[in-house]
Amino acid sequence: MSAHGTVSAVLETLEGAQDVAKAIRSSGYLLDKNDLKRLLADLSASISETKMELTLLQGVIEEKDAELIRMHEAQVYRGNLKRRGDAYYKTLDGRPFGQPYCSYCWESDQKLFHLHNKILVRDSRICPHCKNEYQAVRTPFLEAANVA
Ligand SMILES: [Zn+2]
Repeated sequence: MSAHGTVSAVLETLEGAQDVAKAIRSSGYLLDKNDLKRLLADLSASISETKMELTLLQGVIEEKDAELIRMHEAQVYRGNLKRRGDAYYKTLDGRPFGQPYCSYCWESDQKLFHLHNKILVRDSRICPHCKNEYQAVRTPFLEAANVA
């Protein structure tokens, strides 16, 4: 058996339908009611399995689409992100500005997560994803006007 959600799994489920066709052909198209019933049940089961495998395959494709979109975004941002202090920033005319992004998540996974201020703690920020903490002075909010 192939892994679920693959093209070969879909093809395997179709073999059941092919077996039904073979059985009908090899009988010389002369089958009694009980054999027909049994073959129809086999055919229905095979179609149900195929539908299930196609649904799983659709899920796999959608996951891959999402991954491609994320990789494309990372590619676009790679040229437009700059490290400043302990964080990454988007840039405007080559100058970093705006909210700081977690440098760990960007460097390890090319994922962008804004650092959050911690409640009641003014001197550190935290990444909502990897939970790394950063000094606020090393990861400031940069006004676009201040860098122009
Ligand atoms: Zn992070």
